Amino acid sequence: TSHFTNLPQIPTDEPFAVNASYIKDPHPKKVNLGIGVYRTNKGDPWPLRVVEDAEKAIYHVKDVSRHEYLSIQGDREFLRLAADLVFDLESAQNGADTPQSSHARVTSIQTVSGTGANRLGAEFLTRNISPGNVWIPAPTWANHHTIWDLAGVPRKEYPYYNALTGKFNFEETLQTLRTHSSKNDILVLHACAHNPTGADPSREQWEGILSVCKEKGLIPFFDLAYQGFASGDVGKDGWAIRRFFEEGGIEFVVAQSFSKNFGLYGQRVGALHVVSSAAACGATDDILATLCHLVRGEYSMAPRGGAEIVRTVLGNKGLRAKWVEDLDTMSTRILSMRTALFEEMVALGTPGDWGHILKQIGMFTYVGLSESQVFAIRERHHVYMLKSGRISISGCEYSYRATSSCSKEILLD
Ligand code: PMP
Repeated sequence: TSHFTNLPQIPTDEPFAVNASYIKDPHPKKVNLGIGVYRTNKGDPWPLRVVEDAEKAIYHVKDVSRHEYLSIQGDREFLRLAADLVFDLESAQNGADTPQSSHARVTSIQTVSGTGANRLGAEFLTRNISPGNVWIPAPTWANHHTIWDLAGVPRKEYPYYNALTGKFNFEETLQTLRTHSSKNDILVLHACAHNPTGADPSREQWEGILSVCKEKGLIPFFDLAYQGFASGDVGKDGWAIRRFFEEGGIEFVVAQSFSKNFGLYGQRVGALHVVSSAAACGATDDILATLCHLVRGEYSMAPRGGAEIVRTVLGNKGLRAKWVEDLDTMSTRILSMRTALFEEMVALGTPGDWGHILKQIGMFTYVGLSESQVFAIRERHHVYMLKSGRISISGCEYSYRATSSCSKEILLD
């Protein structure tokens, strides 16, 4: 007998399951569009050039303390640079705010990438704010469901995506939150490049979201997994968060990931930033102590290797400029893949309107295929997508041809 015979049945995580099926498939022309990772024309991973430079700079010096423990908070210089990337603290001059008072509103801690930041943020808020509900977009990154279930906060969904227009469902989202949310509820927001739909609010719509947060006393929880990766411009991709920050009175958190924008997926580099209201500036010591307590009891501190790379790049003018070039390379290629996919669909006379492929932003496209079409394409053509029809757009050189020609066939079936 075993203690473990009655464990609950856990559904498999879809992107990882799709990836496992892809690996098993012996077909020579198989294509993997399931997992959210950047790929080159040949379908290979792309370590950023600037990351390779930083690695050379770091490992070239034999520093005997290179494997020592970090503090529980993490690498402080990395955190300063990471927070500056999000909030533009060095140049923050909003109203009466000085850069010092802006700094005083932000408490940062290093995390085990973006997932760890989401998890730590959820735990911190759940234990200390006792939110009634968490509002997550429908659809969203599937792990949001798991993270908030583990935190034990009832989940509610807001109608984020309008499949007919291929756009963010602004009016209905506001209406839902106005009617059904309560004070201290958490509102999960994708800061840019919404996963999986690639549909983002406009700046005007962000103003509306900000108003409803203030009106209803909600706590925004920004998930920032694609800063700079989406548009190539870190300022543009971080605009919504800076707007909320400049508003002053509103308290919120940011879960920051460096997986995509530095291509450091397996290194697990991230940070959680807690923004307190201007009036509560003195709270940051207590916030930090509370976060450190949670981290200490969980894994003591985040890993140091990847954070060291990010710190080296962000802290050096030349490397930072090279990073911007690398971001441009990735975001431009993604954009050209969108155009290629769209043009191919149209050229093939595939039934339907494919304009949304061009309008969406970021790593993914919500192609607009049904679950049965997705499975048929997998079986007949060995192209792997999530059942929602989400594809990782950088997939590979041949992927758009494969996807579009076979989707035409399926749609005409
Ligand atoms: N949030 C969203 C919306 C994501 O798409 C991802 C990456 N798939 C993450 C968070 C976190 O990823 P990681 O833990 O690799 O930083």
